[in-house]
Amino acid sequence: MINKKIFKLIKKNKINNILFYNNKYLININSIKKIIKYILCTKKKKICNKCLSCNLYNNNNHPDFLIINSLYYKNNIEFNKNIKIKKLKLLNKFLNFSNICSKKKIILIYYAEYLNKNSFNYLINFLENKKRNLLIILVTNNIQNVNFSILFKFFKILYKKNNFKKKILKNNYINKIILQLIKIKINSSFKKFLNIIKNIPLNIIINVILKFLEDIIFFKFTKNVKNFLYYKIHISFLSKKIKNIYIIYNIINIINNKLDLINKKKKFNILYFKEILLNYLYIYK
Ligand SMILES: [Zn+2]
Repeated sequence: MINKKIFKLIKKNKINNILFYNNKYLININSIKKIIKYILCTKKKKICNKCLSCNLYNNNNHPDFLIINSLYYKNNIEFNKNIKIKKLKLLNKFLNFSNICSKKKIILIYYAEYLNKNSFNYLINFLENKKRNLLIILVTNNIQNVNFSILFKFFKILYKKNNFKKKILKNNYINKIILQLIKIKINSSFKKFLNIIKNIPLNIIINVILKFLEDIIFFKFTKNVKNFLYYKIHISFLSKKIKNIYIIYNIINIINNKLDLINKKKKFNILYFKEILLNYLYIYK
């Protein structure tokens, strides 16, 4: 959706205002947030998930990032309501502090069609006086209702769903792997397992196994799961089968080491993979 050229322009402060729009389908705010996380990350090639910025971001506590939205809740049901000036006044407060951990400050406002006339004027005025190193991102599902001066001032990007396809594919992968993890038995042949998952990238398979194990442990202590809610019943069942929960920590370590090895060699090694599956099965012994 955003190519390298645009990222460069953002970095060089040539693009300071972006409007994501699409009238055909609802824009997934999470995918916009991912772009923001990428821009904020202090390692530049991809989201590192290790730097201070990524950590603060993951904890919803990033000092250089502000969200203003039109959402409100009544009886747990989500509504959109006009964004009043009162909410926008947070912008000034936010900018009073200098950047804390990222090079840029980013403000995300959605949905732009819910900015009322006063708020529009406030925002326009704000844009004219704003500092550099600030990126404002607006999101709208209804571009006709967005004030003309905003359209004029913002760099417009048509939101595309291409990420969505990938996500569905990834979800299919995950389902395939988990179903196998649930079914596989000690002494079973790995051939069938391998056949079913042979087109899935190895790092995805291993990460799913790790997350699955994490859920089994998590369930043991909390009676809940955090990664694969959909499989809670299975995870609960497997979790009960395990007598010594601490053995899973060891197994996770072993699998993590294997993952490192595989990442280094970048080649699919069937032996490594069998070892990983054997380790996975070992917890049910
Ligand atoms: Zn990072």
